[in-house]
Amino acid sequence: MADPRGFLKVRDRELPPNRPVEVRLRDWKDTHAHREDGQPYLKEQAGRCMDCGIPFCHQGCPLGNLIPEWNDLVRRGQWGDAVDRLHATNNFPELTGRICPAPCESSCVLGISQPPVTIKNVEVSIADVAFEQGLTPQVPARLTGTTIAVIGSGPAGLAAAQQLTRAGHTVVVYERDPRIGGLLRYGIPDFKLEKHVIERRLEQMEAEGTRFRPGVEIGKDVTWDALRRRFDAVVVATGATVPRDLRLPGRDLHGVHFAMDFLVPANRAANGEEVAADAPHAAGKHVVVIGGGDTGSDCVGTALRQGAASVTTLAIGKKPPLTRPAHQPWPTDPILFEVSTSHEEGGERTYLASTVDFLNDKSGAVVGLRVAETEYQPDGRRVPKPGTEHVIRADLVLIAMGFTGPETAALTDQTGIELTDRGLVRRGDDFATSLPGVFVAGDAGRGQSLVVWAIAEGRAVAAAVDAHLRGTTELPAPVGPR
Ligand code: FAD
Repeated sequence: MADPRGFLKVRDRELPPNRPVEVRLRDWKDTHAHREDGQPYLKEQAGRCMDCGIPFCHQGCPLGNLIPEWNDLVRRGQWGDAVDRLHATNNFPELTGRICPAPCESSCVLGISQPPVTIKNVEVSIADVAFEQGLTPQVPARLTGTTIAVIGSGPAGLAAAQQLTRAGHTVVVYERDPRIGGLLRYGIPDFKLEKHVIERRLEQMEAEGTRFRPGVEIGKDVTWDALRRRFDAVVVATGATVPRDLRLPGRDLHGVHFAMDFLVPANRAANGEEVAADAPHAAGKHVVVIGGGDTGSDCVGTALRQGAASVTTLAIGKKPPLTRPAHQPWPTDPILFEVSTSHEEGGERTYLASTVDFLNDKSGAVVGLRVAETEYQPDGRRVPKPGTEHVIRADLVLIAMGFTGPETAALTDQTGIELTDRGLVRRGDDFATSLPGVFVAGDAGRGQSLVVWAIAEGRAVAAAVDAHLRGTTELPAPVGPR
């Protein structure tokens, strides 16, 4: 039972400070600092949770995290129990505690009259305590004798693999990249998620019995049909990695790239991996990022760390309020420009900006963009406003306009699997695809989303696969397919 008056004793929401901008721009380490007085301060913050009776934070979280329960355990200093309650609903709280936009905090009932409980910071602290104390691998007591292939090692594939391994199945995770982790590894920069955070979880998974096969592309190195013959069930967790393009005059100029063509080599370099000599790099360049979401802001932080001469972000979204009330830490209007730690670090932002075309010099390299103000049409379309064009200097342009869906050419050619009108892998109520024994989870079935949704779907698909193989399941299914 929480202290019902805790929020009256501690009214302020307190978080560890971010590292100073001038310090963090010199390295790739986590933007967030840790406080020395960790436990007493966290106990106070967790004690602000009043266990309100109808914890909307549960509904706000796709995982259904038992937030009031572990807040209270932290308040009492019962860290071991808090670790267990947190892991009861979330395989990877060390990820969501770092990079989730925390819909739970926008749903916190305390937010009606005070700043919400610092749920995400309490979560990451419990997760880190868990690793400091040493996480015991949960090795299944008995093996079922059935085999499952999971294709893709992002958070959806990893959550599915961990659940199914613990249920006693023999699980093999195939990943085409050289290392395991999906977008956690090669998309999201270290200043948001240092990669040792992934490694320590993979160690636990290996100790539990999950087998990893990096550097294997299904559809190319092994056909989808061969895979289906070899395994009792297959989980497609291949993500939604096809980028949305901006086919305007000048798009093919040298120096105009998709954001991921910039972020992936930057992430590899930051982790000591080999990178092609001609990979896009921002040092000394005037960088323009088109798109104001997570991918765009990650490009900003990366370009600034690489030593860009200038960084300008263009977004079609509206300007957010200059100050956001403390009880509303995240944008509620989906077309508001997202504000991230990268935006504190530098660069310009232009709102309601529409690109007209890319400009070049004689060598075929981009030198700028013609940009206009965005005008809303009565039917809701956004078009460049005539007479407002101006030129922005640019010698590296990064297109970060989202992703249209998964890469499905080999999958459809080799199996005839059904897709939705949006090009996503079609699934029924139990995450089953049109192919018997083949299931789908995460962005491949849902479209580009969030890590917390990928973990939730990974857990749910594991329950569906377990039920398919054994006729019954005790695994939890926190969400259904959308
Ligand atoms: P992914 O993480 O995309 O993993 C899919 C994996 O499948 C990839 O490793 C891919 O190589 C592999 N694969 C594909 N095809 C094959 C094949 N044929 N054979 C073998 N392997 C294959 N979300 C947040 O919550 N917070 C954030 O801060 C955040 N930042 C982001 C920043 C960027 C730059 C991007 C692009 C996304 C971000 N997201 C963020 C979204 C989040 O990363 C995704 O929603 C999440 O990773 C989806 O998980 P997934 O497991 O479905 O797919």
